[in-house]
Amino acid sequence: MLAWLWTRLSEGGPEVAVSGRALRRFSEQEIERLLRARVLIERRQADNWSVCAHCDCGLDARPIRRVGDKLLACCPHDAAEDVLLEPGDLKRFGIDAGCLAAQIGKSGSLTGSVSIVAEGVWTIGSGPAAGVLMLCDDAKRLGAPGVILAMKSAAAPRPVTVIATEPDPALVLRLREAGIEAWDVTAVIRTNAEGVDRLVLDGTSVSTGDVRLVLHRPAQFAVLDGRRLDLPPQMFALFRMFVERSVQRDPVFKAEEIEAQFQRSPREFVRDLRKALIACGLAEEVAEGLVRTVRTRGYRLGLASSEVAIED
Ligand SMILES: [Zn+2]
Repeated sequence: MLAWLWTRLSEGGPEVAVSGRALRRFSEQEIERLLRARVLIERRQADNWSVCAHCDCGLDARPIRRVGDKLLACCPHDAAEDVLLEPGDLKRFGIDAGCLAAQIGKSGSLTGSVSIVAEGVWTIGSGPAAGVLMLCDDAKRLGAPGVILAMKSAAAPRPVTVIATEPDPALVLRLREAGIEAWDVTAVIRTNAEGVDRLVLDGTSVSTGDVRLVLHRPAQFAVLDGRRLDLPPQMFALFRMFVERSVQRDPVFKAEEIEAQFQRSPREFVRDLRKALIACGLAEEVAEGLVRTVRTRGYRLGLASSEVAIED
């Protein structure tokens, strides 16, 4: 239930509400426990119900009617689509993110207290292997300026592991560059035989798949296999074109296109780019393989599209 609630929060934001019907899948004791812990906050009951999935009734919500001793969410078009409701289904609950973060920390027997590190990021305690554990309600927040620094300084000198919902590979690589490991919430919160969710600290970092090169477009740098490449502006502009091409259908940047776009001899320009990459610390053959010559046509990035991620 803890992982399910955290995922709802990640998808719906701080104002998300869950219905009593959605909570039916969980045990009453567990719901009761989370109500007492102020994780679930009971709100005003619903007086209408969402429309059927593919309805063309044009309503925003469908009315709830009492028919005999039954409670029905009625479709104006098709009685077969009516939903029979239990009285508890109409309950509505908000989720208190801080209290939920505290419960998740508690379920993993972490030591230390819960505190806010940045908007939507909580420290939930520390564990022996993972250092300081943090929980984030929306992985995108971790890419905002200053957040990584705030997390590191809150934990210093201990390392940080951050748990979030489906962080994308480019972000995971960026966090790893900064020395922070990322775990996916569903991989580290597991349901035990009693149906209770627990944080299990033997998680493994989120796989970044095949990604080897991340292009950070706004900040104008790239990272190859963990090494940061800071190129002079003109070199970055050319390198960026190669990276952008590499994820398109035809990854080849034709010699005449380079000439037209940059007003420079393609051969010299590419030679300069390889030199600049070597100046960033790449071995000569790596630079050569990264910007590859395609005979009679032009040049291309020497990586498959699946090995490349572009961050904006
Ligand atoms: Zn309908």
